[in-house]
Amino acid sequence: MSQISKLISTVSRLSPLRIRVFYTCRLRYRYQYLNRIPARLRPQDTVGSLLHRVLCDFFSKVPVEERDGQRLIRMFEDGWEALSPRYRRMRGVDKLREKSIDQLRMLAKQHDLSARPLLVEPYFQVEVEPGVTLFGRVDRIDERVDGSLHLIDYKTGSHPDEVDAKQLRLYAIMAEKSLGKPVATTSFWRLDDGDNWTKDFGDAQRRLSHSELLEAVNQMQSISEFPPNVGQHCGHCPYLYACSEREEIKRRRLAEDW
Ligand code: SF4
Repeated sequence: MSQISKLISTVSRLSPLRIRVFYTCRLRYRYQYLNRIPARLRPQDTVGSLLHRVLCDFFSKVPVEERDGQRLIRMFEDGWEALSPRYRRMRGVDKLREKSIDQLRMLAKQHDLSARPLLVEPYFQVEVEPGVTLFGRVDRIDERVDGSLHLIDYKTGSHPDEVDAKQLRLYAIMAEKSLGKPVATTSFWRLDDGDNWTKDFGDAQRRLSHSELLEAVNQMQSISEFPPNVGQHCGHCPYLYACSEREEIKRRRLAEDW
């Protein structure tokens, strides 16, 4: 079986991330899903994972009466101390630590720490269209008094490309199908600057998401070329280290000051 045929045979089971990568850069898509080159995580990816873990534990394990901003920051500090000494000695990571603490302060100020989410970090795998299975993990799902759902995705980075409404819509149809309840609202909580993004989710969004999914699968099944898409997102690409366009990326970075 050729590499392309192998790729085609796997696109009936896919994640919202895979679709995002597909539309961001075809070359990255090839590296990640066809060549299966190992991703090289950046220091900010490690701290981003820690922040997600802390928020998951805080909202699922800490009793409501014990929750406040200080507890949240203490949990982060404990998690930080548990990271490898090698990581904590890396240049620049102290700044990441301070930034993360600021992000948690911002979250504590902006949001209700006594909230009781219906689910934190649930993993879904569900057939949302005949023959098309979506899988992935959602950061958090709250349930409203009327039984409808509010789907929340935490964003810890500062890059605007991270806010991808298409991706959130896919999470919404996946959650609805798995839980049998309607999603009424979707949000990105941007921890970096507190500039959150919230949108109602209704029939029009639902239809849009299903057609976007089918369109993506169709395109993935017919793809035969994987051109690079050089841009600011390259600075966040876990395949930059292996990318054939590194010289061009360096040139653009200097010229455009990213
Ligand atoms: S570094 Fe940029 S051009 Fe290269 S694979 Fe990643 S996103 Fe694509």
